[in-house]
Amino acid sequence: MSSMDILFTRTRAPLPRPDDTSLSFGKVLTDHMFVMEYDEGQGWHDPRVVPYAPMQMDPATSVLHYGQAVFDGLKAFRQADGSIKIFRAGRHAARLNKSCRALCIPEMDEDLIRRSFEAIVAADHEWVPHAPGTSLYIRPTVVATEVMLGVHPARRYTYFVICSPVGSYYKEGVKPVRILATDTHVRAVQGGLGEAKTAANYAASLSAQQEAERLGYTQVLWLDGVERKWIDEVGTMNIMMKIGDEVITPPLAGTILDGVTRNSTLQLMRDWGLNVSERKVSIDEVMAAGRDGTLQEMWGTGTAAVVSPVGELAYKGETITIGGGKTGPLTQKLYDAIVAIQYGKSNDPHGWTT
Ligand code: PMP
Repeated sequence: MSSMDILFTRTRAPLPRPDDTSLSFGKVLTDHMFVMEYDEGQGWHDPRVVPYAPMQMDPATSVLHYGQAVFDGLKAFRQADGSIKIFRAGRHAARLNKSCRALCIPEMDEDLIRRSFEAIVAADHEWVPHAPGTSLYIRPTVVATEVMLGVHPARRYTYFVICSPVGSYYKEGVKPVRILATDTHVRAVQGGLGEAKTAANYAASLSAQQEAERLGYTQVLWLDGVERKWIDEVGTMNIMMKIGDEVITPPLAGTILDGVTRNSTLQLMRDWGLNVSERKVSIDEVMAAGRDGTLQEMWGTGTAAVVSPVGELAYKGETITIGGGKTGPLTQKLYDAIVAIQYGKSNDPHGWTT
């Protein structure tokens, strides 16, 4: 299947490109999109890059009713010499397939997924911005497109990849956020969809996020769905913390996403010889460490921000300030190291960019 040719139809109406310095997240889409379909009996077929355009859907299309949809998110970066590199394309491709499996969506050839990223970035290479901190966000998505109202895995799917030039997440340097641990809302449970990147997880997160924002917080800290005690993730990021000399992050035990930035930062910290544990950590342990001063740093990891330091954590009416509310040295060091690899400013010992 990986030998399938990707056809290219260039747009005849290229859009004006925005100024690199005015970019935000996800508002501007590029000129082209990658598309291919799956049909039962035929498999995935007709991979192609075509002009970006709306898709027509019958109102009975299954994804609109039962949410059989998965996606991923990765970035391409302009290098100092003008070339373009994609960060960890293979790992994102593998994760997209893993999400497919969780939702009974037929997997794609992983090499073809990687080639779909390369094809769309090549077609829209002029859209990869040049200003410091900017990038091209790549959004591969699979949706069930069979027209039917019965609840069962669809027999038809569409895979598409769209791209959006995005601005620097931190225009004024890495900035700590205030987060709220919720024990009233649950994002995922063991045996559920927590480790898949699927639409339902984001729909499930909205009301808690809205509530947190209403109370003046930036993100929700998710606890496990059974005991409401074990820390899972923060917003749409994985969570890490440094207590004493131990760096802790919750294990990949079925309820959290296997974040690519999580994996990359863990690898770097192990390279640096730090004491890193993937283990269960309770909100009580963290609050106690915050009280007795051993909680030195806490940060989220994700493609959008790389790292997001937590300056303040609230739980059951108590608030702790972490690292004086400032970005900690390890958080900053991780940010600097990942960004340097992404923009080709340091060597890439693990071959993460292609
Ligand atoms: N958890 C969730 C729920 C997410 O949506 C994301 C963003 N993809 C992450 C963690 C971080 O993953 P990554 O580092 O691969 O962006």
